[in-house]
Amino acid sequence: MALKKDSNSLGSEWEKSQNEDSSPIDFNNLDNKKEIESQLLEVSKGDDNENGFLDFGFNQSILNSLKNKGYKNPTPIQKAAIPELMLGRDLLGQAQTGTGKTAAFALPLIEKLTDNKELNAKVLVMTPTRELATQVADSFKSYSSESSNFKTVAIYGGTDYRNQISALKRKVDVVVGTPGRIMDHIRQGTFKIKDINCLVLDEADEMLNMGFLEDIEWIIDQLPENKQMVLFSATMPSEIRNIAKKYLNDPAEILIKSVKKETQLISQKFLYVQRHHKLDALKRILELKNEGVIIFVRTKLLTTSIAEALENSGHSVAVLNGDIPQNQRENTVDRLKKGFIDILVATDVAARGLDVERIKLVVNYDFPFDKETYTHRIGRTGRAGRSGEAILFVNQREKHFLRNLENSTRTKIEEINIPSNKLINEKRMEKLIENVNESSLAKDENEENKALIIDVLDNLKEKYSMDDSNIAMSAINLVIGNKSFFVNEDDSWIHKQNNNDRNRSNRNSNNRLRNSNRRNNYQNDSFETYKFNFGKFDGVRVANIISSICNSTNINGRSIGKIQIFNDYSLVDLPRDLHTETKNKLKKIKVRN
Ligand code: AMP
Repeated sequence: MALKKDSNSLGSEWEKSQNEDSSPIDFNNLDNKKEIESQLLEVSKGDDNENGFLDFGFNQSILNSLKNKGYKNPTPIQKAAIPELMLGRDLLGQAQTGTGKTAAFALPLIEKLTDNKELNAKVLVMTPTRELATQVADSFKSYSSESSNFKTVAIYGGTDYRNQISALKRKVDVVVGTPGRIMDHIRQGTFKIKDINCLVLDEADEMLNMGFLEDIEWIIDQLPENKQMVLFSATMPSEIRNIAKKYLNDPAEILIKSVKKETQLISQKFLYVQRHHKLDALKRILELKNEGVIIFVRTKLLTTSIAEALENSGHSVAVLNGDIPQNQRENTVDRLKKGFIDILVATDVAARGLDVERIKLVVNYDFPFDKETYTHRIGRTGRAGRSGEAILFVNQREKHFLRNLENSTRTKIEEINIPSNKLINEKRMEKLIENVNESSLAKDENEENKALIIDVLDNLKEKYSMDDSNIAMSAINLVIGNKSFFVNEDDSWIHKQNNNDRNRSNRNSNNRLRNSNRRNNYQNDSFETYKFNFGKFDGVRVANIISSICNSTNINGRSIGKIQIFNDYSLVDLPRDLHTETKNKLKKIKVRN
């Protein structure tokens, strides 16, 4: 049964939260606002003579290193930020990774430190994670590779202090580090900060997200008062604005509005479903949208069994798997394009590169093997600038993968419920009314049919003395057919499934800065509680624990659950089923040295 186009768009909360998250910075006292639209890093690399960096007045060593890297033209954020930073202005930038923001602050800072002979560091860059610290330090190193005696040192947790201490003892221009380790070095006196004249906060929202606000403020308070401040953040929540207001002095303000990538046109959803209810759940989803659908499953065998089941339910379905010869596959895709088939059940390999504008919904019936597979699957919809929807089926054991997927794609996947009888029946009713209305006689342009229908009506009235309403009721009855119109199978399993996992949907909050509250909201059965032998008496705080865990293991800050700190121990909820290697690392972690 065809349903009304897009009538069931399964929520637009995520789009809303995206917009809110990236709302423009609103400073009344700022007059130097720049808004720039940018595709995520859309600049050409090449080796011809053109050099868009010449106008900034960089010295030859920097120009040489840029040439070595193959950078021809500055990215939009570099164009906007470099001149401001060269003038020594404070800067507030809203930009994501991938826009070239690192070079935007690194290049002018390197330029200003050319020929610096002093021992102590002049620039401090703070990042939320050790990965970013290494990445930013590597960028500084490569942009200064042609400058003589320019030194960048990275300091972050999870590694030995000795190398860092000895590097800090020698001449250093730039220090890049994570808040916890920076604090440790400042306290121990191994990082001399008295000559710091520029502080960069990179991915500031992530730092707050990880609970580093107090640490950041402590560090800022230790640094010399007279310094240039640069703050980059992908989003601008009020906490970041407050920091900017408090510490930045008449900053130049740059907002990079990233043009949406194709995947951002796709609204991504997931639903919890136990394995034995998957087919039922699929059929229920297809009640709401069943034209231009592609369903991804893991095996060829499943493609055929699911297609058969759907066909039995009255859908027009075809299969796309590796056993089907190429020409037949092409034929299937062609039929899908033309609308002779509405639903395709496919394996990943067979659907590679499939480009059909008509696809409105991608169902990840089986969880994808990796991020790339997921991105490829959902990219089958949202083609040619159209919007699309992707639904991911998640079972109890896959919850953990879901979180990893969200982290690695840096996307929030919104939870939806399996459609209940009530919802499906409402939709069926809506559709019936719509169909009857659409085929109303007045709209029928076929004169022959019109005459025939009038003839039938006259007959019914004369022969059987039926009035208009009797005739109308009988006609509708005919359309409905013998089968029961409403779904009335037991759907209590759906409610159970949905309620079980209700806690997780607390994540719908738009607020990304949700440290402690967020930690309490996660569903308990996806966590295990670990006990650590440090607590309040050791001066430990939540941020210390998060940074130590993140820096010593591959656990992502967002996947850490509730943290409770007692006098001499702490309890931390961590994802269930951690790898043994990770558990061993956890046994050895140190907090605040
Ligand atoms: P970022 O946003 O700083 O993480 O940079 C993303 C990527 O863009 C990095 O791989 C940089 O090496 C690269 N990149 C930065 N600026 C340019 C440029 N002007 N031309 C080409 N590539 C660049």
